[in-house]
Amino acid sequence: MSEPTACAKCRQPFDRQPRYKSSPFCRACVDRCFDTEIADHWCEIDRHFNDRA
Ligand SMILES: [Zn+2]
Ligand SMILES: [Zn+2]
Repeated sequence: MSEPTACAKCRQPFDRQPRYKSSPFCRACVDRCFDTEIADHWCEIDRHFNDRA
């Protein structure tokens, strides 16, 4: 399985936007997702981190 080289959400390359741990997303996208105050917010990042269901 090849490592992603760019964020799966904003498509910024990881050499420009640091990657969030082993996720396919950059830190900026993950931070923005986790900090959202929209109650029914749901995106591919949430799906990724809730994949155990
Ligand atoms: Zn991103
Ligand atoms: Zn989200």
